[in-house]
Amino acid sequence: MTDDAAAPICLARPLPGPGDDPAGGCAAARAVDGRPLHAAALKFFWGPMDCGKSTMALQMNYNHARQGRRGLVTTRIDRSLGPQVTTRIGLAHSAIEVTDDLDLRDLVRDAWAEGVRVDYLICDEASFYNLEHVEQMADLVDNFDVDVYAFGLATDFRSCLFPAAQRLFELADEVARIQVEVLCWCGREGLLNARVVEGRVVREGEQVVIGDTVDTADVRYQVLCRRHYRSGDLGPRG
Ligand SMILES: [Zn+2]
Repeated sequence: MTDDAAAPICLARPLPGPGDDPAGGCAAARAVDGRPLHAAALKFFWGPMDCGKSTMALQMNYNHARQGRRGLVTTRIDRSLGPQVTTRIGLAHSAIEVTDDLDLRDLVRDAWAEGVRVDYLICDEASFYNLEHVEQMADLVDNFDVDVYAFGLATDFRSCLFPAAQRLFELADEVARIQVEVLCWCGREGLLNARVVEGRVVREGEQVVIGDTVDTADVRYQVLCRRHYRSGDLGPRG
């Protein structure tokens, strides 16, 4: 069987043209029970640092592209310099940098206007987006029939939800914890992202401070189990 033969039925829908309903013909196509044949979805995949979120984002992009779907990849405050999604295991993909005044709906509309098909968005580092971006994601799903797959941290270094992550938990059709386990130094499952400055866990400060998980960074992050996050114990090598 070829990839084309395996493509979902909805891929056959025509590109929306000027003046068309942005959802195209697909939203109107209904099964006999009245449900839409293709229901776009907003999915949020979350996990601590280093759990492979960006790797999964790129893998998902690859899998969808293989099936003939076309998507855009967005990111914010990636570790690297240019706008791209990078992963711990060396994969990289160019990405659109999400700024405060970027409207994700305009991004899709502009692409469509240029004849570029957009079936889905992969939104990496979504916890760093603002609340309007999350509302725009929901709009893209509900009114444009575009799938949105968001990847990000749930909680910050204080173990409090990022606002965008909280909104994604509230609005997403599906929420999934990424199943690649990151272990605390003690061997328990790593759950929380500790910010470490001069060898100590800090619990106050700006919500977003760029750091890394390598030992030599001025500000670094270490994934800990809840017990050691709460006690601030970085382990024998901390
Ligand atoms: Zn531990």
